[in-house]
Order: sequence, then structure tokens, then C-alpha cells
Amino acid sequence: MATVLITGCSSGIGRSAALAFARRGDHVYATVRSATDGEELRATAASEQLQLHTPTLDVTQPDTFGDLINTVTSDAGSLDVLINNAGVLIPGAFEDISEAQLRTVMETNFFGPMLLTRAVLPFMRRQQKGLIIMISSLSGLAGLAGDVAYSASKFALEGATEALRQEIDRWGIRLALVESGRYATRLDRSNGQLPSDYPQQSPYRSLIESKLSDAAQGAEQAMNPAAIADLLLRIADADTRQLRWPSDPLAVAVLNKLHGLDDTARAAFLDEVSDIAWWRDGFEHTPADSGRLET
Ligand code: NAP
Repeated sequence: MATVLITGCSSGIGRSAALAFARRGDHVYATVRSATDGEELRATAASEQLQLHTPTLDVTQPDTFGDLINTVTSDAGSLDVLINNAGVLIPGAFEDISEAQLRTVMETNFFGPMLLTRAVLPFMRRQQKGLIIMISSLSGLAGLAGDVAYSASKFALEGATEALRQEIDRWGIRLALVESGRYATRLDRSNGQLPSDYPQQSPYRSLIESKLSDAAQGAEQAMNPAAIADLLLRIADADTRQLRWPSDPLAVAVLNKLHGLDDTARAAFLDEVSDIAWWRDGFEHTPADSGRLET
């Protein structure tokens, strides 16, 4: 039985992962941002008699990390797996998002996981073992229009995790990056709508509208987050130094495609994926075009 700490468990991937680990008998600390968020998870845990606790944690508040780690380690006596899952996505063109939004995304998706990781490392070093999983994204491997803030945060997480692995390998602590495709969660932009406060006069409005509309049209391809929870169980059980774990066929295909491309080929591939020719070449666009010009 392992002690597993997972952030961002009020919904989506975190919630599925918390239940998957608890259902196989692990001792799970599934953090939620506010105490009321954990009600459903607590009710499920109680009805199934799972060892699952829901401490509160806002990953943008590093001053609170020490108390959480102390509570977990003194209560459970160990901390075997940390899953840095909590994350946010604020879509928008770079000129349109505010500095505060950019900082929120970086605080949540980069500083949060890295500082929480730093808070657990002394304990894992003393244990001479541990596993830290970062829920990354294909946006951490490839940057696409409308995703500047999110991509920046996930690219930063990728680089920091790759470098950190060399520092902590010798203590028997493993690091894993989950390269996640598309899952049907709250974070997925499936409603296709621009936020109501999106700048009315933005010169990028049609680009972002088109990207959100394309995303909404592909919403049925988004997978059940329970599938990624299965991968997390396999990573926890694996005996390997593998760093990057593509979570689904889309992620495998993108990783394989990006491998070995030179800069020009990479840019062409990303433009194609983004379906961006109409925008780059200055064609007129209305939402009815759905961002596509047939050639
Ligand atoms: P989700 O359902 O929106 O879950 C995100 C979780 O993060 C929620 O529990 C949310 O809590 C929590 N969170 C946000 N800001 C937080 C903060 N400051 N402190 C603590 N918790 C916070 O979306 P999801 O898809 O499961 O996202 C989980 C992870 O998967 C994210 O890191 C995301 O980048 C990654 N991912 C998802 C996809 C996808 O297609 N869904 C693809 C690639 C990567 P609240 O309820 O309090 O907001």
C-alpha cells in the first residue's frame, strides 16, 4: 500500500486518479481548493470504505505546503507518490490576455508543482525512494496559437522536470511527465465560446473564435479521464527511468511526428495542426468559415 498525494481533485483527471489509487488499496490524500469541493469525493470514499482524505490546498500558496506535507507524513508515515495535477487553461491571444492571467497560469501550472515538489523532496530523500508525476500536456511539447500562457507553463514544467531528474536520480526518486492528449474535463474548451470579457476590438478575435469553435467540433474525441488514471497506476508500478509517458494514441502520434523535425518542418507541421493558413495568409474570415479554407 502506497501513500499518494494528488493535487486538484475536485474534478477531471485528479478526481479519477484519486479514486483509482484508493480503490486498489492505496492511502490517498486528494487535495481540493476549498473544503466544500471535496464533498462528492468524500461521499464516494465513505460509501466504498476507501482510505481517501481531502485536505485543502491552493497550489499558488506555497507557504501552506510545509503544513500539508507534515500532516500527510506524520499521519501516514510515508509519502510514496506525488501527482502534480492541478492546472488551469486561459485561452486567448498573447496580446489579449492580461499580465495577471499570464501570471495565474504560470503560478498554477509551473510554480505550484515545482514548489510542491521541492517541499516533498527532503522527505523522499530520507526515504531513499519516491515518485513524482507531473501532468503535462502536448502543449508542453508544441506551441499553438491561442495557447501562449498555457504552453509557456507546460514547456517550463517539461524543462524543469528534465533537469531535476539528473539532480535527484541518485536518491532513488523517480520523475515522470505525462504527455496528455485530450480528455473530457472542465478544462477542455468544449463549449467553444470566447469568454464574455474577451476584448471586443481585438484584432485576434476571429482567430481565437475559430480555434475555440474547432475545439468544440472535436469535443467528441476527448477521452474519459478514467483512462489516464489507469496510466498513472501503471507508472506508479513501473520499474523504469522513463521520463515521458504519452497518455493516448494522439499523444504517441504527436511525439513521434515531432521527433527529429528541423525548425522549418516543425513550424510547417504546427501550422498544419493549427489549421492556420487562412489566418497567416490574411484571408477574410467569418465564424461561419470555422477557420478553414478549402484549397
Ligand atoms: P479540471 O477538471 O478543470 O481539473 C483541474 C483541477 O485543478 C481542478 O480540481 C481545479 O480545482 C484544480 N485547480 C486549479 N487551480 C488550482 C489551484 N490554484 N490550486 C489548487 N487546485 C487548482 O481539468 P483536468 O483536465 O482534469 O486538468 C488536470 C490536469 O490535466 C491539468 O494540469 C491540465 O493542464 C492537464 N491536462 C488536461 C488535458 C485535457 O484535455 N483535459 C490535456 C492536457 C493536460 P477547482 O475546482 O478549485 O478549480
